[in-house]
Amino acid sequence: MPTTTKNQTRPERPPDAPLHREGRLRSADGKMATMIGYWDRNLRNRFGNLAYAQWFGFQPEAMPGMHLRDFIGEERYRINLPYVEAALKGEEQRFEVPAYTADGSLSWYGLVQYIPDIIAGQVQGVYIIVSDISAVKETEAAMRKNENLLRESQGAARIGSYINNISAGTFEATPVLEEIFGITKDYPHTNEGWVRFMHPDYRQAMADALLDSIRDRKPFDADYKIIRPSDGAERWMHGLGKISYDEQGHPVSLIGTVQDITDRKLTEQRIENLAYFDPLTGLPNRRLLQDRLQHALLSSVRQKHLGALLLVDLDNFKSLNDTFGHQPGDQLLQQVARRLRECVRDSDTVARLGGDEFMVVLEELGENMLHAATQAAVVAEKILRKLGERYELGEGAHNSTASVGITLFGEQSESVEAPMMRADLAMHRAKDAGRNTLCFFDGQMQTDMVFAAALEEDLRWSVQNRQFCVYYQAQVNGARQIVGVEALLRWEHPGRGWVSPAEFIPKAEKTGLIIPLGLWVLETACKQLVLWSQRPETAHLTMAVNVSARQFRDSDFVDRVLETLERTGAKAHLLKLELTESVLVANVDDVTLKMNVLKAAGVRFALDDFGTGYSSLSVLKRLPLDQLKIDQSFVRDILADPDDAAIARMVIALANSLGLAVIAEGVETEAQRHCLAALGCPTYQGYLFARPLPVDEFEALMVPS
Ligand code: C2E
Ligand code: MG
Ligand code: MG
Repeated sequence: MPTTTKNQTRPERPPDAPLHREGRLRSADGKMATMIGYWDRNLRNRFGNLAYAQWFGFQPEAMPGMHLRDFIGEERYRINLPYVEAALKGEEQRFEVPAYTADGSLSWYGLVQYIPDIIAGQVQGVYIIVSDISAVKETEAAMRKNENLLRESQGAARIGSYINNISAGTFEATPVLEEIFGITKDYPHTNEGWVRFMHPDYRQAMADALLDSIRDRKPFDADYKIIRPSDGAERWMHGLGKISYDEQGHPVSLIGTVQDITDRKLTEQRIENLAYFDPLTGLPNRRLLQDRLQHALLSSVRQKHLGALLLVDLDNFKSLNDTFGHQPGDQLLQQVARRLRECVRDSDTVARLGGDEFMVVLEELGENMLHAATQAAVVAEKILRKLGERYELGEGAHNSTASVGITLFGEQSESVEAPMMRADLAMHRAKDAGRNTLCFFDGQMQTDMVFAAALEEDLRWSVQNRQFCVYYQAQVNGARQIVGVEALLRWEHPGRGWVSPAEFIPKAEKTGLIIPLGLWVLETACKQLVLWSQRPETAHLTMAVNVSARQFRDSDFVDRVLETLERTGAKAHLLKLELTESVLVANVDDVTLKMNVLKAAGVRFALDDFGTGYSSLSVLKRLPLDQLKIDQSFVRDILADPDDAAIARMVIALANSLGLAVIAEGVETEAQRHCLAALGCPTYQGYLFARPLPVDEFEALMVPS
């Protein structure tokens, strides 16, 4: 159907103006040639050009006088009549018609114009002009397609566009953009209106970014946040824009797009959270802690304000985890995290380093060391108290404590690792001091630590490489006959030479290396017993082996001793385990049970260094002991110091009353031996008789050549 696109009254034509130029059906550029015809008031033709005549199948000469109905045919005439009549009333008509070829496909698009010929207010006739507008139509269609494509793709990508008239301060926005911004058509599309929904944190940055792009003549590109007027939601936007300028170089307009990138930002944030926060507790992780600590160190030094770093380590967390599984363990960690946060100011950092280790950074504790330390201690005490309160876990109530190591920072610039290491050292001291306590770092710790770390490393290496040997020291009776030996461990350090057991045994205990090392001593001693049992002169010798508290506490200890005895074939009654009083400090029931099991297998026990600890008589009575060893510190001054002599006498009396044997160690002189004998001590060990010796030298003592 033809459509009327415009009805208007045309200005009158001067009567003698040229009407047309003759046209051909197709013009040179291949378009349909414009058709022109003139029809009078009675619709008789006065003139028609070649294109017009040929299109309807006539010769131009045949046209004049022809009625319009005859020229265009009955069917077309009926359709065109309303336009023709309107034109004859003086109203210009124009409509578009598609023209089809014989096979029915669209051939071209025509614009039909009926232009009334008016002279002196009277309509004389009608010009009918048909022109080819196929190209215009095609362009229009292509544009419409592009527009749709743009609209659809922008909608899908949540991209909206706008034009900002800079001098007027007004905006035009696409519907998608209005939807993204959460504004209606009626919302003021002005600078003020739009600034109103920009997030306050980004307003200045946006203005700066715009000024920057004007100054540097570069595209505008910025991420910013808005508060959507429709629902008050905070959304992330990515804005791109291009500014155009007039001839004087003044900015005229800004044309740009805005994309809603909230989802992407949230994903980015989640990824960032994973990288910087501990998923279990939501606290900053080690990485973020290091960042924050770095920052705190710099600003402390700059502002001359001290800060404190606290390392909080839960006591016995591993046993909770091992006993009840991970879930209660996780719950405990979450509750610990919450309590730690409650102990500090919002501005302080609480982080989880991993496992059951947490760190707290306290800042701005003032310039004075003592004052800063006091404040840190107050917080640490609060932490100990809070973490010591009961926990409600899925499995029920649980009690836990923590150890806290504290170090101050801000006195001088240093790396992040330095205070972390100091706090760690102090925390371990707190553990050694019995847990559930706090400990400050001091300088001596550092020296000890460096030395200990090196020694520990060497010790580890030497345990693996069997760099140890066992010496044997004789134990003699009143007739100076050797009745037994004590096995004493010796370490020849590749660089330092002989290292005293007094130095390396505590390290081995601390690191747990004492367990493999102690087993090796036991095994060596047992094998030696077996070798000696094969010779009459040595078959009677007892073998004393030192066992440290850490070894004895190990849950495998009893089994390993029994297994070693069985495997080597050593006689259990010749083996005497030397325990120190520190073993007895622990759970006495457990100690008694273990001793009884070994005792039942024939193993004997001596209490080493007796008199230096605090064993109570009641405990001594319960334990299946065989022998007390008078500590060498009492023997040393037994002649000079009446107190030492009194203690020695007391130990001997105690042994007698409990039915235990007694031996004095560290006997160096005949006078000491004489004194001990007079007090009733029948057995001795010391340099007076023999030093600890390698096995062959010891054996040489047994069989004097
Ligand atoms: P301890 O068990 O009390 O060993 C006696 C210590 O006194 C030995 O020191 C020995 O060499 C020394 N000694 C013996 N007679 C005399 C003397 O007449 N005068 C003086 N001044 N000292 C004498 P050592 O060998 O340096 O061992 C020190 C400590 O290291 C031992 O004290 C023991 O507690 C521990 N230890 C040694 N070997 C082992 C071992 O295999 N396992 C464990 N757990 N500890 C061991
Ligand atoms: Mg000993
Ligand atoms: Mg001793």
